[in-house]
Amino acid sequence: MPDDCLFCRIIRGEIPATFVAQTPECVAFRDIDPQTPTHIVIVPREHIPTLADVKDPLIVGQLSRLATDLAESEGIGQSGYRVVVNTNADGGQTVYHLHMHLLGGRRMTWPPG
Ligand code: AMP
Ligand code: ZN
Repeated sequence: MPDDCLFCRIIRGEIPATFVAQTPECVAFRDIDPQTPTHIVIVPREHIPTLADVKDPLIVGQLSRLATDLAESEGIGQSGYRVVVNTNADGGQTVYHLHMHLLGGRRMTWPPG
């Protein structure tokens, strides 16, 4: 776990966050700068920089399952939501610890900006 990774520090409890779920493999917390009424960040406990660095694809399934479970518990399962994995610079990634964004609670447009 890199000392200077923001999400590793949140997982270790060194930086406060509003946690909404914890599993043996994943942690979920509210985004500090929410872009939609529901905006949750779902991360693996293991430090994996980007989606392209995933070795065992099981972790992507575990993150996805937690995202869909949280969509239900947040009450946006039926209204709809978006799950996003920004990857590298053009993808808009700013924190290099793999994460899924769960976004919902308002109508979103396509294509993204
Ligand atoms: P990305 O741009 O896809 O790498 O997403 C990183 C996300 O982390 C952004 O949506 C930020 O608002 C969010 N973020 C940054 N710092 C924190 C923090 N301390 N607690 C919760 N979310 C954060
Ligand atoms: Zn990390």
